[in-house]
Amino acid sequence: MTTRRPHIDVPSLLRFERQAIAAALNLVEDRRPDRQEQALALLDELAALPVSAHVVGITGPPGVGKSSLISRLLALAAQAGRRLAVVAVDPSSKASGGALLGDRGRMQVPPHAPVYIRSFAAHDRLGGLSREAFSAVFLLRHLCEVVLVETVGVGQSETDVAHIADTVVLVVQPFSGDLLQFIKAGVMEIPDVLAVNKADDEVLARKAVADVNAALSLERRPWSRPVLAVSAATNLNLNQLEAAIAMHYHHLCTSKALASKRAEQVVAWAVGEVLQEVGARGLAALGGHVGVSSFWSHQPATWSEMHTLRVLLEAVDFRVKSEQ
Ligand code: GDP
Repeated sequence: MTTRRPHIDVPSLLRFERQAIAAALNLVEDRRPDRQEQALALLDELAALPVSAHVVGITGPPGVGKSSLISRLLALAAQAGRRLAVVAVDPSSKASGGALLGDRGRMQVPPHAPVYIRSFAAHDRLGGLSREAFSAVFLLRHLCEVVLVETVGVGQSETDVAHIADTVVLVVQPFSGDLLQFIKAGVMEIPDVLAVNKADDEVLARKAVADVNAALSLERRPWSRPVLAVSAATNLNLNQLEAAIAMHYHHLCTSKALASKRAEQVVAWAVGEVLQEVGARGLAALGGHVGVSSFWSHQPATWSEMHTLRVLLEAVDFRVKSEQ
């Protein structure tokens, strides 16, 4: 017997009604198979509507001031009357409902602001975005003007955030060795905007900005990545940070890169889903047996189609295992 879907009507979601959003995200987080199907059906329904949001990833090591900066950006968005959602990934919690990041207490939200904040456990994704967090972003990006995705710069999260965000902001702080690590690890390839926070300490901030610029100076890209010294404590350059994020979005729209980026995001999500279900072995097996490369070159039309594919892959994985 299938459980009846909790009543979530799309018009309430589109009106940004808190209760409806909470119910929809609960559905997305519910791992029972019938609920997962219902969540996919809801995503399908929304997928027929345009994406209204600019999805912005905010990443960086713990303690650099991501939450503080997000609180400030929330206030700026609220002042401008923009609807905004925050999806925060809590890397320390494997269980659902962990709220180290992303609770309204930690991020200060102006009262009555049209802001929705939800944190997700990383589950088994090594600090990265869980399937639920991905789905939540896919859902929320139809409901508001900006979706901020906060991830801690550890493990899987940098690459994951690039798979879901249109624009990635890397936050660093002056007096740390993180920069060198990032350069070594290739993390500097990912961000579109770099923010050196805690620039209330001017001397250190100037040096950090120079270091980041030096690390980026040899590159030639269609988008020249801005490096901004900011301070969540004193509001230094926060309007400029907001403007740089908006300019990158404008760049994506005018260069027509946005559509291909979003198509790639769906494929990345699908690959993640498949990996989670059948593992690398199953994916490789599918590549060998069914010609998966031709599939990945096409964007699947609906979320339900993706679900069907997952079921198919499970069957392939079963066959691979039984042949061993
Ligand atoms: P997160 O772990 O990256 O989300 O960092 P938080 O936002 O929780 O900030 C970590 C600490 O840095 C807190 O004690 C903040 O008060 C402090 N902090 C955040 N932004 C600034 C800033 O611009 N200047 C200074 N001096 N401290 C800051």
